[in-house]
Amino acid sequence: MSDSSSLDAFAQECLADLDAKALRRRLVPTARGPAATARRDGRDLVSFSCNDYLGLANDPRVIAAGQEALARYGAGAGASRLVTGNHPVIAALEARLAAHKGKDAALVFGSGYLANLGIVSALASAKDLVLVDALGHSCLFAGAQLAGATMLRFRHNDVDHLRAQLAARRGRFERALILTERVFSMDGDRAPLDAILAVAAEHDAWTLVDDAHGLGVVEAGARAPLEMGTLSKSLGSYGGYLCASRAVVDLMTSRARSFVYTTGLPPASAAAALRALEIAEAEPERAARPLALARRFTARLGLPPAESPIVPILVGDAQTTLAHSASLEARGFLVVAIRPPTVPAGTARLRVAFSSAHEEAQVDALAEAVAGVVERA
Ligand SMILES: *Cc1c(COP(=O)(O)O)cnc(C)c1O
Repeated sequence: MSDSSSLDAFAQECLADLDAKALRRRLVPTARGPAATARRDGRDLVSFSCNDYLGLANDPRVIAAGQEALARYGAGAGASRLVTGNHPVIAALEARLAAHKGKDAALVFGSGYLANLGIVSALASAKDLVLVDALGHSCLFAGAQLAGATMLRFRHNDVDHLRAQLAARRGRFERALILTERVFSMDGDRAPLDAILAVAAEHDAWTLVDDAHGLGVVEAGARAPLEMGTLSKSLGSYGGYLCASRAVVDLMTSRARSFVYTTGLPPASAAAALRALEIAEAEPERAARPLALARRFTARLGLPPAESPIVPILVGDAQTTLAHSASLEARGFLVVAIRPPTVPAGTARLRVAFSSAHEEAQVDALAEAVAGVVERA
């Protein structure tokens, strides 16, 4: 009793603090429907909050592949892949991912978050330096922390800052690892990968690119030695992956804690992701559409042209951002408010994500609604 009362008092205190800062998060009952719709409070909304960029989560072919694997192989993997043996569906998915990225091999993890925890902590330790783009995803920082490495943040997409940090510090560490993203999840801009890879080569550093928002959508350009990503966004399923050399993948199979000590991905998730990847490769017009729609939107609002299907509308203050999001919802659009600590303090924003499932008319209507809502404030 006394245990739980101090525990609950602690939780209440933290929640009150979050409420006061407009940073409390709540789960809102919402059913996802087909074609970028979402049902909330009995109303159908057009969702611009989803990372299902290619509309494949609801594609009948993807659903059928998942259903067939579910019926054939059951609901769960049973144990770690090292314990139960490797599932042929996962092996096929890994071969396809490796080929897609032009790498020798791939390893599928339980999620993208788990992949980064395992990859970074398998490659770096207390004697090593990990340099992370300041706007990198939470799991990149978590991976560096789990590794126990010295971690430095370099200014977002600032190659000179990265080079200066390496020049000043590299000599004191055994190994150096650079962590960045092909497309930044909350800003929608892209990393200067050619320049980063060149700096990495100058200083014998290894580069990991998190491709969570690029795969199948915005992928042109250089490949890093470590290409990781997720099956949960453009592929509409669930899970994470690393594409790399055979030696690196073999090392991960033995050493990545979040691979070794966790249950394998359900075969149905792997089968759905494999079918989705085949479709993404076979239908380039589908892959090109989210970026084209994002550019249509930025042009309508007079914003700089979108670099990816993600368009942030910077607001600043968390409370105002929540109010804008609620106004858009009242107009029939689901556009999520992104607040700290997901983004730096003072940079709360609306994050608009475009999908090939959206129609031009929906994009135009959203642009009009956003202009109205933001102008009124
Ligand atoms: C979503 C995301 C992840 C995590 O992937 P999950 O499969 O959802 O765990 C990792 N990195 C970035 C940049 C992401 O946006």
